[in-house]
Amino acid sequence: MSWERQINVKSPAEIAIMREAGRINAAVLAAVKERLQPGVATAELNAAAEEVLKSYGCISPFKGYGRPPFPASITVCINDEMVHGIPHPKRKLKEGDIVSIDCGTIYEGFVGDSAFTAGVGEISPQATKLLEVTEGALYAGIENMRKGKHTGDVSAAIQKFVESHGFHVTREYTGHGVGKKMHEGPQVPNAGIAGSGVLLRPGFTIALEPMVIIGTHETRVLPDNWTVVSADGSLTAHFEHTVAVTEGEPLILTVL
Ligand code: MG
Ligand code: MG
Repeated sequence: MSWERQINVKSPAEIAIMREAGRINAAVLAAVKERLQPGVATAELNAAAEEVLKSYGCISPFKGYGRPPFPASITVCINDEMVHGIPHPKRKLKEGDIVSIDCGTIYEGFVGDSAFTAGVGEISPQATKLLEVTEGALYAGIENMRKGKHTGDVSAAIQKFVESHGFHVTREYTGHGVGKKMHEGPQVPNAGIAGSGVLLRPGFTIALEPMVIIGTHETRVLPDNWTVVSADGSLTAHFEHTVAVTEGEPLILTVL
C-alpha cells in the first residue's frame, strides 16, 4: 500500500511519546536557529543539529532517506530553495538570506517532524512578509485540525491564507501523516477544497507544512536530485509542525 493510504490512529500513550519526539525536535531546531549568522556553513548547522540529537540518544529519519540516500540529518534551504537542500561545508550564510531548516527526530520508535524559516541578520520587507504569511498559513491549517473536519478544510485554509496575501502554495509537496514512519496517510496538500478529503479523527497525527513561493507555485529539482527550488528564482519559505487531532483543541507536538 502506498504511504498516502496508510493511516495509523495513535493511542494517548503513543501521542505522549510523539510529544517527546516533538519536544526534542524543537530543541534541535532552536539550537540551529541560534547559529544562523553570516559566514556560518550549512554543514555546521547540520553538525549542531546532530550534536543535540546525540545528546538525547536520537537520530533523524532524514539521514539515508530516499534515493540517492539523503546525506544529512537536517535539510537547509537558502532563499529560492524551498525544501530538501543538502548541507555543505562550503555553502555559507550571508546577511539578508532567509534560511529554511527542516528536521526529524526518532524517539522510542516515533517521529517528530518540524521546520521553520528565519532571516540572517537584516532581511527585506518582502522576505519578512513571506515569513509571516507562511507561518500564519501553518496556524490557519492547524486551526482546522479538529475532529469532524476534513483534510480538505486544512488544505483550503492554508491556500486561502497564502493567496489572500498575494503569494503561492506549492502543489507538488504536501503535509502528511506521521508516526512510526515519517510519511503515513493522510496526505494533506497545501491547496484544496473545503469539505473534501479524509475525515479527521482523534488520534490522527499529521505534519502540516505550508511551502510558500512569492512568484508562482511552480518548482523544479536541482541536478543533485534533492534540492527543490522555485521555478522563477523567487524567495520561498517553509514552516511545519506535527499536530495531533484530539477530542478538543489541536495539539501541537513539535514545540518545547
Ligand atoms: Mg519536515
Ligand atoms: Mg514533513
